[in-house]
Amino acid sequence: MTDRKPEFPTAATDLPTTDDEWRQRLTPEQFAVARQGGTERAFTGKYWDEHSEGVYNCVCCDTPLFESKTKYESGSGWPSFFQPISDDVIKTETDRQFGMVRTEVRCAVCGAHLGHVFPDGPQPTGMRYCMNSASLDLDATD
Ligand SMILES: [Zn+2]
Repeated sequence: MTDRKPEFPTAATDLPTTDDEWRQRLTPEQFAVARQGGTERAFTGKYWDEHSEGVYNCVCCDTPLFESKTKYESGSGWPSFFQPISDDVIKTETDRQFGMVRTEVRCAVCGAHLGHVFPDGPQPTGMRYCMNSASLDLDATD
């Protein structure tokens, strides 16, 4: 085991460790999505039709995850990005729920469920990071 510290300006030691603590910090919807792996209904989230410039942070730990310039109109009803700020801020896992094989995307710092990634996005990456608004917190610059 290494004790390499995360390179993010996040007080990771300050993060909740139990569901009860997360529940106090998050709204019920944020908790259901980010901590329990839920999915908000399409076209209902805060950011699917958001066009402000800025940075989308993890709603749980404030780690910057996506920039608005990588957000695009996917037509899916969820905020969609073609790449994260850095490969280090997310981690992916195979998700076999509901009889489908999908790739789940989580925050690398706090493990929050963010959404899924699909190989049908636009160039330059060809990837579609299909995120839940409830897991994101936009820090708008305009
Ligand atoms: Zn996080």
